[in-house]
Order: sequence, then structure tokens, then C-alpha cells
Amino acid sequence: MDVTVFPAPEDNGTRAVVVRLLPNGAQGRKLRRLANAAAKLWNELNYGRRQEYFEARRRGLSQLESARRVDMRGTRKELVPKYTELLGAAAWEVERKNYEAWSSFRGLLKAKSEGKLPPWIHPAPPGYWKDEETGRRKLWIPVRHEMYAVDPEAKVIHISRYNLRLRFAGEVRWYGKQERMEIWYDEARRAWYASIAVKVGAETTRNGTKPRHIVQGARRSIAVARPIGDKVAGIDLGVNILASVVVSDGTWMIYKGARLKEDYFHFEGRIAKLESEASRAKSAGDEKKYNRLWAEVRRLKRKWAARRLHLYRNLASHLIHELWERGVSAVYVGYPYDIARERGNKYSVNIWAYRELIDAIEAKAREYGISVYEVYERGTSSHCAYHEVEVERSPRGVVTCPVGNHKLHSDLNGALNILRRGSGVLVNGNLKPLSFIVDHNGVAPANSIASTKGGNAQNPGIYPT
Ligand SMILES: [Zn+2]
Repeated sequence: MDVTVFPAPEDNGTRAVVVRLLPNGAQGRKLRRLANAAAKLWNELNYGRRQEYFEARRRGLSQLESARRVDMRGTRKELVPKYTELLGAAAWEVERKNYEAWSSFRGLLKAKSEGKLPPWIHPAPPGYWKDEETGRRKLWIPVRHEMYAVDPEAKVIHISRYNLRLRFAGEVRWYGKQERMEIWYDEARRAWYASIAVKVGAETTRNGTKPRHIVQGARRSIAVARPIGDKVAGIDLGVNILASVVVSDGTWMIYKGARLKEDYFHFEGRIAKLESEASRAKSAGDEKKYNRLWAEVRRLKRKWAARRLHLYRNLASHLIHELWERGVSAVYVGYPYDIARERGNKYSVNIWAYRELIDAIEAKAREYGISVYEVYERGTSSHCAYHEVEVERSPRGVVTCPVGNHKLHSDLNGALNILRRGSGVLVNGNLKPLSFIVDHNGVAPANSIASTKGGNAQNPGIYPT
């Protein structure tokens, strides 16, 4: 079988500090004016660039070739100067951001032409800057690194070019060189936010007199530890068992996602109710009510996403700390093909954002100096990890291998396969799971009936679910 193992994308040490801005009325109006101009510039630049791209496509050029033909410099020279009087250097920052979007589009097309992208990913040229639901322009301002200063004590962001001293709420977590700040208006929350990019550990200290370009937040380093051993681990991600993890020393850990499921049904129910109320309001011609209900739907969706992310981060933090203590220096995460594609029903798609979970694991692993690899391969759950033959799957999550008619828990089989195919290490023996429940206030050991009843000489790694 053809295995693809990618190292996780390199970390350039940049972290985001997100704060809520508290502008007064006049400041709010000014932000709105600036943001409107920025969105207009983005859309004009992008219009010009898309025209050239599609023109090349019409002439029969490939996507990649067409993307390469786009005259980035010409559009920049024509459009950016029209906006510098109002936006200052932020006009160039809008262009830079659009340029980055086109570069990433070209990068994806190149990867695709080399067969390095999963087949269902179809790159598309950058879109216009507008709110998907309201159709209005998104309010967004990219502020260049030298245009602003953050005072974490007084909780003020100063942008002298715009004569703005904006108060904010929130903690400034990271210390380091300040990069771009993005300001945007959240329609659902009716509030302005700023996301400040901080390159942690890269502050200029040569003469120590450049405080304007340093964000003086709390943490000065991303790394908290180095690996203390050279073990490896395989991670299989799933819906009910969020993560099943096998370490080369024979440890097997499972993280149950019951809380995630409860949250999902809670939010799903409330959202469905609001949506049907909204459609009733629409047929009754009550646009005001309709808009209010939709704003509430958006708020709930965001809240659900935030809670899910919080659970993922709890899982990642517990898992990586456990692995670090056991001396793991590299982890292999299986890309969940099966669930993403074959069993991608509405429930599993909505409850589970595996990319977010993988990102959370990668971010935590970096703090401990643990390398992360993503293993792209089909069949990690349908083939026996020991005999590489197709197994029979039962609905109870047990697989039966035709060679010797032995049984394995499917989550264990998946993790064993990922570990073996990623690192070449095959773990033998009767593994018993250490079982954990992921909750909002942390991760707790699950009732250990599972581990005492599970796993015996005849049925290694079986536990009742
Ligand atoms: Zn087998």
C-alpha cells in the first residue's frame, strides 16, 4: 500500500493575540470608514486579478499556468495608490494579504499538479471580501506592524496614522516582535476585534530601544520542554472515541467524546428551532424578526465552534503531556479518510472538525518539542495491523481478522496501523486501554471497568463500549 507521510507544517513561531476593541462612537464610525475602504480595495484588486486568471483559462491554459499569468505588479501599481491617502500603509497591507492569497492558490495548484493533494481538494482563486450571509462587505482593516503600538497595562492600542487610541478588553498573552494586526467587525456579536500577530522569541534586543515594535505580553517562549526519550506514538482520530493512541512502549490511551456529543445535540436542537422560526418569519414578511433570528443562529454556531475547540485543546494538552512524560519524541496522526469520505454523513461532519483537532495536537506538541507527522493512507481501519489483510468489522467496534480468526478493537487496530505505517514500529501484546473523558474543565480518567474487563490473552485490546 502506498503510504504518504507529511511532516506537519513548519511553525514560524507566530502566535495571535485576540482582543475585543472598545471604541467610542466616533472611533467606531472611523473604523467603519477605514474598513469599508480596505474591503473595496481588496475587491478591486481581486476583480482585476480574477479577470486575468479567467481570461487565461478561456484561452485554454491550465489552472496553474493561468494563475502564473496574473499580473500582480500591474494591478498593485494601478490600484493601491488610490487608497493610500485614506488608509496609509494599510493599503499596501491589503495588497500584501491579497497577494498572499494568490500565492497560496498557486502553491496548492502546484501541489495538485505534483499529486501531493488529496484528490477531493479543488483549489479556487481568492474570493471577494464580503459577508457570506448578509452579502455586505466584510469590515476588516489590516494594520502594518509599524503603524501601531500596544500597551498591555493601560489596555490601549494606539494607531497614530488614524489618530486612534482604542481601549481593549482581553489579555495580551505573548511577548515578541509585533507583526500585522487585523481589525474586524463581528456582525453577530456587534463588536470590533483585533488580532495581533506576535513572533514569539524574536524581539529585537540589540539596542533595546524599539519598544514600539514589540508586544510586551506575558509569555516569552512557545517551548516549555524538550522530549525526554525517543519513543513514537500513533494517533487514530474518530467520532465517538476522539483519539485512540498507541505508544511504542505498549501504552494504549483512548479519549472519549461524550461531552462533545452532548454539546452537539444541545446546539443542533436550538439552532434547528431558530431556523424554522426564521423561515416562518420570512414567509410572514417579517424581515426584522428574520434578521434577528439569523443573527442568533450565527451566534450559536460560533459558540458551538468555540466550545468544540476548547474540548480539542483540553484533549491535546492532556494527550501531549502524557506522551511527553512517557518519553515520546514523535507522533504520527492518521488523516481520517474513512470518516471524512466514506462515512461523511451530516452528523459526523458537523460534530467533528478533525482539522481543528489535528491543529490543536500539533500546536501543543510544538510546546514540548515533539515532532508531528500526518499519515495519509486509506485502509488503516479496514486492514489488520498485524497481517495486512482485510478484516471483518462488527457494529460493536470489533474487527475480526481471518488470519487465525483473532479479534482487535477497531480503534486499537487503527492506531497500530498508523503507527506502523508512519514509523515502521509494530507494537505487540495484549494492550489494555487507559481511558479518558474529555470535558470542558479538563480531562479525567474514565470509569476503568473498560480496562479491567478488556484485553485478555484470547482477545487482545477488546473492551466493551
Ligand atoms: Zn490479523
